[in-house]
Amino acid sequence: MDKCRSCGAPIKWVVTQKNRRMPVDLEPVEGGNIELHPQGEFRPPLAVYHSIRPPGIKYYISHFATCPKAEQHRRKQQKKDLPNPVIRGVVSQQLSHSEEQ
Ligand SMILES: [Zn+2]
Repeated sequence: MDKCRSCGAPIKWVVTQKNRRMPVDLEPVEGGNIELHPQGEFRPPLAVYHSIRPPGIKYYISHFATCPKAEQHRRKQQKKDLPNPVIRGVVSQQLSHSEEQ
Protein backbone atom coordinates (compact mmCIF):
# COMPACT_ATOMS: atom_id res chain seq x y z
CA MET A 1 0.00 0.00 0.00
CA ASP A 2 1.27 3.46 -0.83
CA LYS A 3 1.28 6.32 1.62
CA CYS A 4 1.27 10.04 1.14
CA ARG A 5 4.78 11.30 1.68
CA SER A 6 3.48 14.39 3.42
CA CYS A 7 0.80 13.18 5.81
CA GLY A 8 1.20 9.39 5.78
CA ALA A 9 -2.40 8.74 4.73
CA PRO A 10 -2.99 5.57 2.72
CA ILE A 11 -3.38 6.43 -0.95
CA LYS A 12 -3.39 4.73 -4.26
CA TRP A 13 -1.87 5.94 -7.47
CA VAL A 14 -4.07 6.24 -10.49
CA VAL A 15 -3.65 7.82 -13.90
CA THR A 16 -5.90 10.46 -15.37
CA GLN A 17 -7.31 10.36 -18.86
CA LYS A 18 -4.41 12.64 -19.79
CA ASN A 19 -2.06 9.93 -18.55
CA ARG A 20 -0.85 11.83 -15.49
CA ARG A 21 -0.22 10.06 -12.24
CA MET A 22 -2.32 11.23 -9.34
CA PRO A 23 -2.83 10.03 -5.76
CA VAL A 24 -6.37 9.34 -4.57
CA ASP A 25 -7.52 8.42 -1.08
CA LEU A 26 -7.49 4.65 -0.65
CA GLU A 27 -11.15 4.33 0.25
CA PRO A 28 -14.08 5.66 -1.77
CA VAL A 29 -15.84 8.58 -0.11
CA GLU A 30 -19.28 10.13 -0.11
CA GLY A 31 -18.21 13.39 -1.76
CA GLY A 32 -15.83 11.82 -4.25
CA ASN A 33 -16.04 12.47 -7.97
CA ILE A 34 -13.55 10.02 -9.44
CA GLU A 35 -14.49 6.62 -10.76
CA LEU A 36 -11.65 4.14 -11.11
CA HIS A 37 -11.45 1.75 -14.01
CA PRO A 38 -9.08 -1.18 -13.55
CA GLN A 39 -6.55 -1.44 -16.36
CA GLY A 40 -5.00 -4.78 -15.59
CA GLU A 41 -2.30 -5.93 -13.27
CA PHE A 42 0.54 -3.78 -14.50
CA ARG A 43 -1.14 -0.44 -14.94
CA PRO A 44 -2.67 1.85 -12.35
CA PRO A 45 -6.44 2.31 -12.52
CA LEU A 46 -7.77 4.98 -14.83
CA ALA A 47 -9.40 7.93 -13.09
CA VAL A 48 -12.56 9.18 -14.71
CA TYR A 49 -14.10 12.37 -13.38
CA HIS A 50 -17.83 12.69 -12.96
CA SER A 51 -19.45 16.08 -12.53
CA ILE A 52 -22.87 14.47 -12.47
CA ARG A 53 -22.53 11.36 -10.38
CA PRO A 54 -24.71 8.43 -11.35
CA PRO A 55 -25.59 6.29 -8.32
CA GLY A 56 -24.27 2.79 -7.84
CA ILE A 57 -20.63 3.69 -8.43
CA LYS A 58 -17.91 4.03 -5.85
CA TYR A 59 -16.35 7.45 -6.02
CA TYR A 60 -12.87 8.30 -4.93
CA ILE A 61 -11.41 11.69 -4.22
CA SER A 62 -8.05 13.16 -5.18
CA HIS A 63 -5.69 13.09 -2.24
CA PHE A 64 -4.71 16.64 -3.11
CA ALA A 65 -8.21 17.62 -2.04
CA THR A 66 -8.00 15.91 1.35
CA CYS A 67 -4.32 16.06 2.26
CA PRO A 68 -3.83 18.30 5.29
CA LYS A 69 -0.43 19.16 3.85
CA ALA A 70 -1.66 20.03 0.39
CA GLU A 71 -0.34 23.56 0.82
CA GLN A 72 3.09 22.10 1.34
CA HIS A 73 2.77 19.93 -1.76
CA ARG A 74 2.08 23.00 -3.80
CA ARG A 75 4.89 25.06 -2.34
CA LYS A 76 7.36 22.27 -2.93
CA GLN A 77 6.23 21.96 -6.49
CA GLN A 78 6.67 25.66 -7.08
CA LYS A 79 10.17 25.63 -5.59
CA LYS A 80 11.28 22.69 -7.66
CA ASP A 81 9.89 24.43 -10.70
CA LEU A 82 8.44 21.30 -12.18
CA PRO A 83 4.77 21.89 -11.69
CA ASN A 84 2.41 19.62 -13.50
CA PRO A 85 -0.18 21.86 -15.11
CA VAL A 86 -2.74 19.08 -15.33
CA ILE A 87 -2.40 18.06 -11.70
CA ARG A 88 -2.36 21.71 -10.72
CA GLY A 89 -5.62 22.20 -12.55
CA VAL A 90 -7.08 19.22 -10.74
CA VAL A 91 -5.95 20.60 -7.41
CA SER A 92 -7.48 24.01 -7.87
CA GLN A 93 -10.65 22.40 -9.21
CA GLN A 94 -10.86 20.13 -6.19
CA LEU A 95 -10.13 22.96 -3.80
CA SER A 96 -12.77 25.20 -5.27
CA HIS A 97 -15.18 22.29 -5.03
CA SER A 98 -14.52 21.86 -1.36
CA GLU A 99 -14.81 25.57 -0.74
CA GLU A 100 -18.26 25.50 -2.24
CA GLN A 101 -19.45 22.89 0.19
ZN1 LIG B 1 -1.24 13.68 2.30
